[in-house]
Amino acid sequence: MTTNFLELAVKGVQGLQPYLPGKPIEELERELGVTNTLKLASNENPMGPSPLVLDVLQNPVPQLALYPDGGGFTLKDKLSSKLGVTQAQITLGNGSNDVLDMIARAFLCEGREAIYSEYAFAVYPISVQAVGATAKVSKALPSDDEGNPYGHDLEAMQAQITDKTRVIFIANPNNPTGTWLKSDELDSFIENVPKEVIVVVDEAYFEYVTEPDYPDTLQWLSKYPNLIVTRTFSKIYALAGLRVGYAICSEEIADCLNRVRQPFNVNTPALLAATAALDDDEHLQSCVEINTKGIKFWRAACQYRGLEYIPTVGNFITIDFEQDAMPIYEALLREAVIVRPIANYGLLNHLRITISTVEENQKCLDALDKVLEQLGIS
Ligand SMILES: *Cc1c(COP(=O)(O)O)cnc(C)c1O
Repeated sequence: MTTNFLELAVKGVQGLQPYLPGKPIEELERELGVTNTLKLASNENPMGPSPLVLDVLQNPVPQLALYPDGGGFTLKDKLSSKLGVTQAQITLGNGSNDVLDMIARAFLCEGREAIYSEYAFAVYPISVQAVGATAKVSKALPSDDEGNPYGHDLEAMQAQITDKTRVIFIANPNNPTGTWLKSDELDSFIENVPKEVIVVVDEAYFEYVTEPDYPDTLQWLSKYPNLIVTRTFSKIYALAGLRVGYAICSEEIADCLNRVRQPFNVNTPALLAATAALDDDEHLQSCVEINTKGIKFWRAACQYRGLEYIPTVGNFITIDFEQDAMPIYEALLREAVIVRPIANYGLLNHLRITISTVEENQKCLDALDKVLEQLGIS
């Protein structure tokens, strides 16, 4: 008799699927023998990190034999003055996914509920179900709803709140849809959430957003002690490989998160790199500008070709091919272009493409044109 370990796992884990990452470049090149692969699958920043970061990492990292600064003093110090919050309001994570996990471990367990939207970021179910809590998934806005198809339906989310609800996850903007919530609507939503329910606003793409109505959530921390804002160094700061993210919230909630945080969750090179990255506003600004141009490029390209797309404010765009997108994805792989299928979100006809530089956007579009013609789609 072999042991069925899945049956032994906690119930929530039995219902989970492993997270599906974007296909790594090396894997594609090994499998198909292609070269010069363009990876636009994981919303990584094509510009790479600031030269200040590369400088810091080029020096031999001191004292690898020693544990990192578990309190992350220097990074928190810089973040706290930049963001206008106290150090005690900041919790560092091994990527912001680590912080999402801490929130689940601190506030969720069997018998408690968490709410998130259909099409919301794939890490929420993992964090919620891993601790045995129940996920309540609200329907997204209907795709024919004006302006914000596929977006979070705040009324539907509100309607899911029960006395078992402890956490609500909101990605703003959301990945993989690129949809976003305006300041007014998010503010009045949080205002109406019971104070015992924690609202997590995941702002992984915060720095990319240029919309004037995009919320400045840190301003709300004093009026909403149940608010947690999460941000990351993985996206615009281009440090996805080093894993640094953080939460900003009331000192009381941060204290709870710190109780479940693994002692040395952010490593020494990551702490050094993130601290240096915060010094280069110019690099950040130029990444924003390139992305904003890229959004316009893809919007125009889709419109010209009659392709449906979800309006985005992030560094990615999701295109609806109105038919099974897998053959298009696979044909793109043969052209050495990796984009992201999102069938795991229930979006079978869509592909998510990371917005890149002028040159790489064009290269991806050329490959897409070629593939659509091959498949007789255009
Ligand atoms: C990419 C992404 C993150 C970032 O995860 P890290 O662990 O910080 O790399 C978080 N939330 C959303 C919605 C994302 O798309």
